[in-house]
Amino acid sequence: MSIATKSDGEATGNFSLVAAHSHITGLGLDDQLQPRENSQGMVGQLKARKAAGVILKMIQQGKIAGRAMLIAGPPSTGKTAIAMGISQSLGSNVPFTAIAGSEVFSREISKTEALNQAFRKSIGIQIKEETEVIEGEVVEIQIDRSLTGGHKQGKLTIRTTDMETIYELGNKMIDELTKEKVIAGDVISIDKSNGKIAKLGRSYTRARDYDAMGPDTKFVSCPEGELQTRKEVVHTVSLHEIDVINSRQQGFLALFSGDTGEIRSEVRDQINLKVAEWKEEGKADIVPGVLFIDEVHMLDIECFSYINRALEDDFSPIVIMATNRGISKTRGTNYKSPHGLPLDLLDRSIIIRTESYQEDEIKSILSIRAQEEEVELSADALSLLTKIGTETSLRYAANLISVSYQIAKKRRADTVGLDDVKKSYMLFIDSARSVQFVEENSHQYVD
Ligand code: ATP
Repeated sequence: MSIATKSDGEATGNFSLVAAHSHITGLGLDDQLQPRENSQGMVGQLKARKAAGVILKMIQQGKIAGRAMLIAGPPSTGKTAIAMGISQSLGSNVPFTAIAGSEVFSREISKTEALNQAFRKSIGIQIKEETEVIEGEVVEIQIDRSLTGGHKQGKLTIRTTDMETIYELGNKMIDELTKEKVIAGDVISIDKSNGKIAKLGRSYTRARDYDAMGPDTKFVSCPEGELQTRKEVVHTVSLHEIDVINSRQQGFLALFSGDTGEIRSEVRDQINLKVAEWKEEGKADIVPGVLFIDEVHMLDIECFSYINRALEDDFSPIVIMATNRGISKTRGTNYKSPHGLPLDLLDRSIIIRTESYQEDEIKSILSIRAQEEEVELSADALSLLTKIGTETSLRYAANLISVSYQIAKKRRADTVGLDDVKKSYMLFIDSARSVQFVEENSHQYVD
């Protein structure tokens, strides 16, 4: 997955990153799962998107754990883009993990442990918990910040329809109130298990403030009856997070450092038993997510055999793989096979094919990318980029957008013109010209 820099039109010199697929917000399908020609950042590739939509529906209904899907097609035909489209449509409760095949070899842990961790990151566990939540209108907040040692203390008066209660506040709650910018008249909820405060809206009883509140203010009535209510809250964590918390001395901090190390199989077995128990008791639900393995041909035969076995596990996500290889050697063997995948894994995979783009599709994708990078292209600049994209590759043409913009900026122009694209085409060569150059000058290079 390549990263492009977002061009900044202002003179502040600030740069923000626009990832290669940041323009994709879904698969661009209608309610009947029919692909729209150009929607949610997605263009063309209709058959593959329709097929991906069917899979997406099944994932959302929790019907498709333990299966494998392969997206196969030439380079730059949107395989990763389709996987990202699925990811965007899943919502935050369904885990989606993306790795590149080569990644499993570049870690300090063994390749099968790396795969195991990726599998378990892709299984969500929804844990249901009852917690006490206070809801009411804020009547008054008093904060005393004058105490020594940065300590703050204060009082919060909350009212429901018929009751007023005063709470003593410590540092943490005061920070929460400040962070959420809570003022008198707000209706808030306080989760007693973790002190989290959420603003629900403004109270009707303060409707005289209406004019000052602006058109976007949401007015809610104070909850009736009991000031303290019980609520079921659901947290989603991944199986991997549970593994890490239970296996390392530094506990959850290892999640932030990324240094999880090898996790012992006994720990995982115990966790599997515990989770199965929670499920039985109705305390937890298992949410099979998606593990996306890009450039899957980079894996070797041991990894493939691991995947075959892992797909049969009770806790298996759906595995989506992508490759641009035709008939090629399976790493770790002397055998050639379609896409470099062993036949048994290929046999159990649903295969989606992506096809090379037509000129008008390349034009639309380049135009969307330019918008995403906040670059204005003149009509003839877009036409030339499209021609370049058709004759070299979509990715190369897309990379020329930000380069051409820098060239345009040098001549103080806001819009990229034909000459800017021409200059960037001469300045940065595409892979075919690079190969040609190396071949013609092979004597100058080290073998
Ligand atoms: P490779 O085999 O080289 O890994 P790929 O098939 O995974 O390539 P992508 O990385 O998905 O190709 O596509 C290249 C670029 O073009 C990305 O920025 C991607 O978001 C964009 N793109 C590709 N296809 C589409 C499409 N149908 N609609 C919108 N954008 C697309």
